[in-house]
Amino acid sequence: MSSTFTDAKGRLEPAIEYADVSADTLERLRLPKSVLKVSIPVRMDDGSLKVFAGYRVRYDDTRGPTKGGIRFHPDVNADEVQSLAFWMTFKCAALDLPFGGGKGGVAVDPKELSTHELERLSRGYIDAVADFIGPNVDIPAPDVATNQLVMGWMMDQYSTITRRIEPGVITGKPVAMGGSLGRDTATGDGAWHVIRTLAPRLLDGDGPWTAAIQGFGNAGQALATQLHNAGHKVVAVSDSKTALYNEEGIDVPAARQAKADGALEADGAKEIDAEELLALDVDLLCPSALENAIHEDNAGDVRARTLWEVANGPVTAAADDVLIGNDVIVVPDILVNAGGVTVSWFEWVQNRAGLPWSADEVRERLEEHMVEATEAIWSLRDEHDIPLRTAAYAHALRRIGEAVDARGSAGDYK
Ligand code: NAD
Repeated sequence: MSSTFTDAKGRLEPAIEYADVSADTLERLRLPKSVLKVSIPVRMDDGSLKVFAGYRVRYDDTRGPTKGGIRFHPDVNADEVQSLAFWMTFKCAALDLPFGGGKGGVAVDPKELSTHELERLSRGYIDAVADFIGPNVDIPAPDVATNQLVMGWMMDQYSTITRRIEPGVITGKPVAMGGSLGRDTATGDGAWHVIRTLAPRLLDGDGPWTAAIQGFGNAGQALATQLHNAGHKVVAVSDSKTALYNEEGIDVPAARQAKADGALEADGAKEIDAEELLALDVDLLCPSALENAIHEDNAGDVRARTLWEVANGPVTAAADDVLIGNDVIVVPDILVNAGGVTVSWFEWVQNRAGLPWSADEVRERLEEHMVEATEAIWSLRDEHDIPLRTAAYAHALRRIGEAVDARGSAGDYK
């Protein structure tokens, strides 16, 4: 049966021949380490009781405690969470972070909940998964529709349950509760470092480039701001309700302000169809919303020269083949959006050391880390003449393989 997870695992296949890993490694990565499904009872403001389905998956912890966000979205399901945990395993290895991959989620439409209901749900999620997570075991973070406020409630709840303050159990917290400076914009900032390193090579020059951004949330807004500040033209942005286009470039700060005030708007921009945004003739197409946005049926319409996967899994495997056939270069999620987990790692390090870093230190280390991983993946691509996605998986797989073999005993049986 086809599923996001089957699709996700399929991405590994072409990378295997370039990674030269043991049979043990591939066997170890076939199945998730553990999968937890929970029910979360929440007392609603009207006095009724509602039970929500929650998940936490730890895919692989060979390289360290598992790490990955928690998503609140109506479509969250076991297949999706497992796929996201699988991707996190490779993302952390690609960036050389001392983590394995995990992910969590709750099937809920957070827009339908009051702030108090959302707090009860967030604390209820931690009540349900508390035995499964911990600063040395599994460390959640924000993802779609979860933010600093939610992470703060969750850390507080975990500390209440364990009867000690445990800031390192979760990242993406408010700075006042042990969060890191720069974590809120880290995913978009990281994507920008990948773009500014590779786009001049892929687009023959320094621009200015035109960009279309699907998903004007945490990641999309931070990336749009970087592009705007660097003098490039963000010609289109969208959220789940509205898609906007302005040939002259969207006023990104004004659009952010409008979104913060309640609805995505920008002076001089016209509304377009959501699918139209994905088919715009731009230098950079940046799907930054959810997985499977570009699929077999709309991949042929993509006219962008390069596609940067800011979201996790926005291009299906079938769409990848169409894009390659049409010479659209895809830069994969496990590299492009890894800035978020990288600064999450910085936050965890700061929590364990009890020593906060300055904003400049975070910025410099993020840049250094993103550029190093980007160059390593680019070299592998050049060496073998393979797509960047294959190179990124091969690069990550090698590192996971080293950790599997380092504790393995297969040699004793030869
Ligand atoms: P977010 O909730 O802050 O923003 C998501 C945005 O996408 C919202 O504006 C929403 O309205 C919009 N959206 C939803 N469906 C859409 C559609 N069909 N068309 C257009 N817009 C749509 O979430 P985020 O944290 O920015 O995450 C976005 C993506 O980035 C996800 O795939 C997530 O897994 C990935 N990601 C996030 C982080 C992080 O640190 N937040 C890190 C790595 C990867």
